[in-house]
Amino acid sequence: MTWVLNGVYLVAAVLFILGLKAMSSPKTAAAGIKWAGVGMVLATLATFFIPGESGGLAYFAPDKTINLVLAVVAIVVGGGVAAWLGKVVKMTDMPQMVAIYNGMGGGAAALIAAVEFTRPVPPTGLHAVLAMLGAFIGSVAFSGSVLAWAKLQGVMGKAVRWPVQNLGNVIHTLVTLGLGIAIVVVGPHPILVVAFFLMALILGLALTSPIGGADMPVVISLLNAFTGLAVGLEGYVLGNPALIIAGIVVGAAGTLLTLLMAKAMNRPLTNVLFTPISGEAQSVDGPGGTMKEASAMDAAAMMRYAESVIIVPGYGMAVAGAQHKVYEMTKLLEAEGVDVKFAIHPVAGRMPGHMNVLLAEAGVPYDQIFDLDEINSDFPLCDVALVIGANDVVNPVARTDKSSPIYGMPILDADKARQCIVIKRGRGAGYSGIENALFFADNTSMLYGSAQQAVAEVVTHIKELS
Ligand code: NDP
Repeated sequence: MTWVLNGVYLVAAVLFILGLKAMSSPKTAAAGIKWAGVGMVLATLATFFIPGESGGLAYFAPDKTINLVLAVVAIVVGGGVAAWLGKVVKMTDMPQMVAIYNGMGGGAAALIAAVEFTRPVPPTGLHAVLAMLGAFIGSVAFSGSVLAWAKLQGVMGKAVRWPVQNLGNVIHTLVTLGLGIAIVVVGPHPILVVAFFLMALILGLALTSPIGGADMPVVISLLNAFTGLAVGLEGYVLGNPALIIAGIVVGAAGTLLTLLMAKAMNRPLTNVLFTPISGEAQSVDGPGGTMKEASAMDAAAMMRYAESVIIVPGYGMAVAGAQHKVYEMTKLLEAEGVDVKFAIHPVAGRMPGHMNVLLAEAGVPYDQIFDLDEINSDFPLCDVALVIGANDVVNPVARTDKSSPIYGMPILDADKARQCIVIKRGRGAGYSGIENALFFADNTSMLYGSAQQAVAEVVTHIKELS
């Protein structure tokens, strides 16, 4: 039975890895998610066939019926809630969902360790060390992710700071690890175990609370890497190869994504974690100049008679669900001979790949969508940059103002286009809370309105001009 079990775990692990590989391209991403899902179902079912210590199957031992019932109830309730949420959660709320699911993974890993520490014969030696480390990292990931969820959901403010926070967090970390080492050395005394878990959970809150603004995606990705690591460590403690491999894959993917996002924002990871952008407190004064308003007809005429247009979508396009109208407008312009491209910033919207997913859903061909590095040199040559509900990702102060909290973050150079049109509802700031110099530039016109309605009006006028 053991070799069949390990064979199934191996198949599941291969499916996880192939699924993750497929997720690296929008064309194969949907298939990748299904492969990884099949792997997860196989690994979950295989768990029911783990051999028991006294022969037979562990979950079907007569004195362990309660475990079987609890496992089945957990799978039905958890699977049911996840399936329902997967259908009803809006695309713009995905980061919160990722944060809370990630927290559940970290919490589950920490619970595995808690169970190990309360066994009649608790783990010793390397097993105890790894169980403790998994519990530490999993607890931090759990409480940190729950707090990240609360911030993204708007349940609480974006950033909370207090004096000597970084030093306090270092001391807190050392004390928590000290308690963990005590558990390993003297054994899991209940008071030590409770104090250790409480301190680790509070540490997750303390590390995440000062972070807000444009740094949240990096932190969610880092917490995701933590969860992977915690799951992998507890997989070793349980001797479960599927958990080890899934944990390593998640941990490695989360680490790479964290580093890539920090690079996309041109900020070292230490800077994100220890000198974060607060999101509210560091707004700069409005730049000089005035915002000039354009009508939908002005915008339609500018683009209809342009040779080239670059569209920069952002969070506002997502929240307004304007992507289908945007593509309708694109096709109309192309029919008039206008060259239309889409420029995607790595942290546009509220999750990595947010804009790519929405544009793909609307049917925009992949070869019309360009990353920041590929498209930035095209802006000075393009007639019109149309910014739809984007703000931070086109803020030129990131290039020019050394005192700005987002100084150094690469941006899409929409301000370098001959004309720039910005669609947004009013004077609302971007996610980082910083005023945008682009909106006050001489070559920028503001088209006020919710993205879907504004683009629909532009579409009507382009049709009139054709
Ligand atoms: P921003 O959040 O900077 O700005 C969005 C703009 O959209 C706002 O200024 C708002 O202005 C406008 N807007 C809101 N609703 C509508 C609507 N219905 N129609 C038209 N406009 C609307 O968006 P960006 O995409 O430029 O930048 C993303 C930001 O989010 C970055 O700071 C990034 O770091 C952060 N972030 C990114 C994540 C990711 O993984 N991609 C995750 C979490 C945060 P107004 O109110 O005036 O309409």
